Amino acid sequence: MTFPVIGVVGGGQLARMMAPPAVALGFELRVLAEAPDVSAVAVVAKAPVGNYKDLDTLREFARGVDVLTFDHEHVPSEHLQALIGEGVNVQPRPDALINAQDKLVMRAAIERLGLPNPAWAAVTSVADIAAFGETHGWPVVLKMPRGGYDGKGVKVLRTVEDAEAAADWFDAMNPLLVEEMVAFSRELSALVARTPSGESRPWPVAESIQVDGVCDEVIAPAPSLPPEVVAQAQAAALRIADELGVTGVMAAELFETPGRAPGFLINELAMRPHNTGHWTMDGAVTGQFEQHLRAVLDLPLGDTSALGGIVVMKNFLGGANQDLFGAYPTALAAEPTVKVHSYGKSVRPGRKIGHVNVVGSAGDDVTAVRARATTVANIIRDGK
Ligand code: ADP
Repeated sequence: MTFPVIGVVGGGQLARMMAPPAVALGFELRVLAEAPDVSAVAVVAKAPVGNYKDLDTLREFARGVDVLTFDHEHVPSEHLQALIGEGVNVQPRPDALINAQDKLVMRAAIERLGLPNPAWAAVTSVADIAAFGETHGWPVVLKMPRGGYDGKGVKVLRTVEDAEAAADWFDAMNPLLVEEMVAFSRELSALVARTPSGESRPWPVAESIQVDGVCDEVIAPAPSLPPEVVAQAQAAALRIADELGVTGVMAAELFETPGRAPGFLINELAMRPHNTGHWTMDGAVTGQFEQHLRAVLDLPLGDTSALGGIVVMKNFLGGANQDLFGAYPTALAAEPTVKVHSYGKSVRPGRKIGHVNVVGSAGDDVTAVRARATTVANIIRDGK
């Protein structure tokens, strides 16, 4: 009996958090690290350092792994196609992954599936943006189709003058994506996993709270979300995963739009475990990192039910405190129910360096559970 070897391209915190379930299930996890000091290197036995944009480096890394999967979405499609041609088992495959790499491709796919998109257009000039604004109303949201993350590559344009001032964006990329400015009530995340054989499972839909374009807090299940919206959001995410041939974990980030059927619009897709799914590590029968490993290995998926009444995830970003461990005695004493996940990263202001999860009991008040998570996250961030 041999256990599989999983190769993860990228050594960030997502790769790192795949390690505990890999250990539990007896799998070997390897990462292709960007540098010797990235998050996952300290927790896996084999972590060669290399450039994921170099085909020979990928080829060498893929030798001896049973499946190649990802910590991020930046590996060039043509390299993945080449590896598949050489017999490497790549999950998810590049024709699915492109929908998480390129927002114009994603918008077209969502439209083709008849699922709820905001109004959008591919634009090649300031005049195109102005025409879109005239038709759909100002403000509009201009986006770099590729390479954006945490709100970088997203700009709100209130007037034609704003559009003119953003003209230099076309020097970086052309066409760009323009979208209507959606008046959403909150952001939601519909997280699913799917196997190459086509088994899929959704987790409960969660609410995600962004601060300055960065995920700050997640509440699961999303409080007071109408059951029919939950059902339709899960169905939409499952359908996307099916029709695009997604394998592993996929997050569909949604805007909640009460009064505008079906009650949400799709913002973007991520094809890997996602920050909005960290709550599942302690708050669901099967966490997203375990599920991702099961899915890419084409194993049966685990139950995705939430544990407890309400689960809250709170990120801690780099702040005043450099000595995270020094804050643990105070943090852990403050709230014994809180689970801390630290990414082993050096502290830099605004950098995602860890998160905490709190699984509330049935009947717990959401505000109180959120406060417990925030208290601990802030103690670690601030050192007091
Ligand atoms: P990123 O790829 O950087 O995460 P997103 O496309 O998710 O970029 O946009 C970042 C944030 O900008 C979203 O979380 C949302 O708050 C806001 N945003 C993006 N698109 C729109 C839109 N069409 N209408 C209103 N707000 C938007």
